[in-house]
Amino acid sequence: MQAAGQVVTRFAPSPSGPMHVGHLLAALEARRLADALGGSCVLRVEDIDARAQKPEWLALMYEDLAWLGLRFDGEVMVQTQRFGVYAAALEKLRGIGLLYPCFCTRTEIRAHVLESGRAPHATLGYLYPGTCKYLPPDEVQARLAAGQEHSWRLDMERVLDLVGCPEWHDSYRGTQRCVPTEYGDVVLARKEFPTSYHLAVVVDDAAQGVTDVTRGEDLFDATHIHRALQAVLGLPVPRYHHHTLLRDNAGKRLAKRDGARSLQSLRQSGFSPAQVMESLAAALKNGGIWEI
Ligand code: GLU
Repeated sequence: MQAAGQVVTRFAPSPSGPMHVGHLLAALEARRLADALGGSCVLRVEDIDARAQKPEWLALMYEDLAWLGLRFDGEVMVQTQRFGVYAAALEKLRGIGLLYPCFCTRTEIRAHVLESGRAPHATLGYLYPGTCKYLPPDEVQARLAAGQEHSWRLDMERVLDLVGCPEWHDSYRGTQRCVPTEYGDVVLARKEFPTSYHLAVVVDDAAQGVTDVTRGEDLFDATHIHRALQAVLGLPVPRYHHHTLLRDNAGKRLAKRDGARSLQSLRQSGFSPAQVMESLAAALKNGGIWEI
């Protein structure tokens, strides 16, 4: 348990492929901020999406972190061990009338959004058009009773009524105001996943006492959703630091599919941890373009 007022950062990788240099940047940002402020940096394994993950990737992640000499403080939190905690948060939201069941498939949602002439959101994809929100209660009960597959969505209009437009702060872009209804009614749980990334991340940041969230700027928009959830769940609000992403020469974001930039392949091709760190520093000086 950290001392009151102490800074806590976190590195929260999803082991859904071999870690690449982008993950290293995220880990270093968290570690460096904690070190600079005399705080601690915790590790959280975000492994709720079992379909996308393999135990060998988790093992490889630990190997890569050890090879790089990256260390974390305290106990590692593992999301698949915490489904009961997420279920309790979900129950709380249900209790205040913020959830509704949605029977739509992804294909239906996509078709509906495209039909309405709207483009997908740049980072959040096809925002839910609200199709199931106003289903007659009898129909909802009948479909639930018949066991029809469904997810649970957060009713952002009610969130807005309840908490308004809460603020949050990003160290790169300044104070932000979250307008809950701009991000669609996000899914918080579905049959195969009793929680979603959005719910787990806010619950866990609070549980780990995270004061400062460092993560890639691809998650900037998701932070509005997280802020809305913190407001309705009464959770503390960390400071945010959405850092730049590494890109290749063509300007394309490095991703897990870029096996060549995986830490494992760099290691196997004879790079030392110091050389990887130097290349990363060079990339950051060069607008985030990773040259290797
Ligand atoms: N688990 C997410 C990822 O690996 C990061 C989540 C976060 O930093 O909030 O992309």
